[in-house]
Amino acid sequence: MTYTASPDRYKQMEYRRCGKSGIKLPLISLGLWHNFGDVDVPENYRKILQLAFDSGITHFDLANNYGPPYGTAESNFGKLLKQDFLPYRDELIISTKAGYDMWAGPYGDFGSKKYLTASLDQSLKRMGLDYVDIFYHHRPDPETPLEETMGALDLFVRQGKALYVGISNYPADLAARAFDILNDLGTPCLIHQPKYSMMERWVEGGLLNLLEERGVGCIPFSPLAQGLLTDKYLNNIPDDSRAAKASGHLQTNEITADKVQQVRKLNDIASSRGQSLAQMALSWLLKDPRVTSVLVGASRPEQLADSLKCLERLDFTPEELVRIEEILR
Ligand code: NDP
Repeated sequence: MTYTASPDRYKQMEYRRCGKSGIKLPLISLGLWHNFGDVDVPENYRKILQLAFDSGITHFDLANNYGPPYGTAESNFGKLLKQDFLPYRDELIISTKAGYDMWAGPYGDFGSKKYLTASLDQSLKRMGLDYVDIFYHHRPDPETPLEETMGALDLFVRQGKALYVGISNYPADLAARAFDILNDLGTPCLIHQPKYSMMERWVEGGLLNLLEERGVGCIPFSPLAQGLLTDKYLNNIPDDSRAAKASGHLQTNEITADKVQQVRKLNDIASSRGQSLAQMALSWLLKDPRVTSVLVGASRPEQLADSLKCLERLDFTPEELVRIEEILR
């Protein structure tokens, strides 16, 4: 079936400016870490992407090693781009990354110019693209000089292989140095991608303030704590959940009795707000204007449809916020 995007796609979504840049991102962006590999079902992930774009999600986030196997999320996304989304390429912000293990040997991991250059070339080929909108260094490299890694990002922009650059998983002090180097090179950092959710709060210790000061956007990943911040694990570990799947990164030992207890209480607050817990967890992040967009995953279209409804209620009462902190303390 030929896909034609919904003419109403820009009616429901809100867009926030990414730091001090010219780019606006949808409040909800879609990540392809899980659910788009060769182990997954093409009809299902095609529907997820179509629903996303029809709902105003213009930003899709990938990385070289998403799958499994590594690379297959990009090649499957490339097939769908060709099949469904090429007429809309100029309406899309497509990102990819390199920085974690990708291939064997000394040039397939971390942050050398050698690795990043080869990896971006491979990513472009897999997706069938001339350029990505954002290229990220995926995690800090303790050994490669930061100047070399940032120099590679700057080079990709000059070569036209990436329009903007970002960093991910960088602590505040290292992020500040990276921003300085990139500014000196004339390629300001567009965005930082940290892990951030109600349950994972490290960014509140300085990174969020830094991003605001430096005019860099923030796109939290795993905003639902990989599914923990939903109602799915309240009673058991469902067979089709990430925690139960061999290819899933959520380990069953992360779903502790204490966490389930917290989730149950948070779920009650969400119900009293007329939201699902997933919706409340996303609204909770988006209430902070320093958060540009939240980067969700979905294993089926219905989940994405549910998550999108968070947009109907982003405000919290002071009492709700206090209660949430009490539960998570
Ligand atoms: P989430 O925390 O949003 O978890 C997504 C999972 O939660 C889904 O696969 C599904 O799990 C479950 N889920 C989603 N919506 C609902 C819902 N409404 N109701 C019930 N369950 C729901 O994010 P991810 O961990 O998937 O990360 C999102 C993206 O962030 C990634 O795709 C990637 O792009 C990026 N990322 C970046 C990293 C980095 O280092 N920069 C690291 C990790 C992620 P189930 O399969 O159980 O149904």
